[in-house]
Amino acid sequence: MSSVILPGMRLVWRQHQQQFGKRTIASISALSETHQMLHKTCRDFAEAELKPNAAKFDREHLYPKEQIQKMGELGLMAVEVPEELGGTGLDYLAYAIGVEEISRGCASAGIIMSVNNSLYLGPILKFGTSKQKEEYITPFTTGERVGCFALSEPGNGSDAGAASTTAKKNGDSWILNGTKAWITNGFESEATVVFATTDKAKKHKGISAFISSKPTNGLSLGKKEDKLGIRASSTCSLIFEDCKVPEGNLLGEPGMGFKIAMMTLDAGRIGVASQALGIAQAALDCAVDYASKRTAFGNPITKLQAIQQKIADMSLRVESARLLTWRAAYLKDNHQPYTKEAAMAKLAASEAATYNAHQSIQILGGMGYVSDMPAERHYRDARITEIYEGTSEIQKLVIAGNVYKEYGV
Ligand SMILES: Cc1cc2nc3c(=O)[nH]c(=O)nc-3n(C[C@H](O)[C@H](O)[C@H](O)COP(=O)(O)OP(=O)(O)OC[C@H]3O[C@@H](n4cnc5c(N)ncnc54)[C@H](O)[C@@H]3O)c2cc1C
Repeated sequence: MSSVILPGMRLVWRQHQQQFGKRTIASISALSETHQMLHKTCRDFAEAELKPNAAKFDREHLYPKEQIQKMGELGLMAVEVPEELGGTGLDYLAYAIGVEEISRGCASAGIIMSVNNSLYLGPILKFGTSKQKEEYITPFTTGERVGCFALSEPGNGSDAGAASTTAKKNGDSWILNGTKAWITNGFESEATVVFATTDKAKKHKGISAFISSKPTNGLSLGKKEDKLGIRASSTCSLIFEDCKVPEGNLLGEPGMGFKIAMMTLDAGRIGVASQALGIAQAALDCAVDYASKRTAFGNPITKLQAIQQKIADMSLRVESARLLTWRAAYLKDNHQPYTKEAAMAKLAASEAATYNAHQSIQILGGMGYVSDMPAERHYRDARITEIYEGTSEIQKLVIAGNVYKEYGV
């Protein structure tokens, strides 16, 4: 925590308000001083280090190594991990605020941060032994090393319980065989949480979770995917061929893998919702800035009611999605059930990102369609938030299932 709590908090916050006004983030004044400071730290970092470089990272498919290391120094690569394990020891609301602000500067950096925090460190923190935490959490808190999460396969994404990757016990090791697809941080990661079936007959109840170091014998990488957006984060297959994982790297009990994956994704969806909020906010910022400078028919286009309606719709969507996202984080922080709320947050925020990015291009007219302006990148980056960590259709199944439970039907 010490790394983000800088001296002179009140003064800095006053300067922050003067600089950005009160419109920066819904109800930020209601947040604790720590959260406000974190917001300010992340925003300043994103303005200085991410926003000016995001177009280059995107164009060149460049992993932002230096920036991720600096994010580690700010405590952003292990926000929820306790200080004694090398983390920042803050709550999930802090994490959500951090991912949003980082993603506002660069959506790729946002997902690299989110995968390391929620999908890699999260399940080890919750289900790992002390030895696993020492070996696979502490070295991954500084931004020097990142982890990944390998659940999806070429044959099954939404239907995660149908995993065909196998793990067979052999002496004091597990032998993994199979291919995991679409793995974020696949190229740079130095460890993965990976899911494999230890008992096919039990279907999803036969899936177990393992931690595997990378690189290691029997684990190779597929081609780097050429993606529509978030191009500065790598995505590739992990191919396990008689890959030996030590017995001690089983995460939780045999057969607990599906439960671990689903619990991890509940928390991960707060991260993706926050990433989507960052993109939605960036699209709105870009649209307002451009509209205030562009004139048509003798006036700035901000005067046109058609433009005002778009700005109102964009603002409404991002602020309502933010409240849903913060509510999900608040529930998690208070140990309340939050599966439905996280799914609602992800659904609303990803739709806000896609909508805002679309409208932002419209407001910029021709300038929205070329890469001189960030609007087209926001449009490409937004799209993935409706797909990974459960598509929008899957979020609706999760929401409806929980609503039925509430009604007892
Ligand atoms: C850039 C990128 C990064 C990713 N990162 C990771 C990662 O780090 N780790 C990881 O494990 N995975 C990752 N994924 C995989 C991602 O989570 C899956 O792509 C996603 O879950 C969808 O699975 P699928 O692609 O197999 O689509 P499918 O499951 O084949 O779905 C195809 C379509 O059918 C719909 N559909 C499927 N089932 C239902 C249903 N029951 N009801 C209604 N509609 C349904 C879907 O919504 C979708 O529209 C990533 C994917 C991408 C593109």
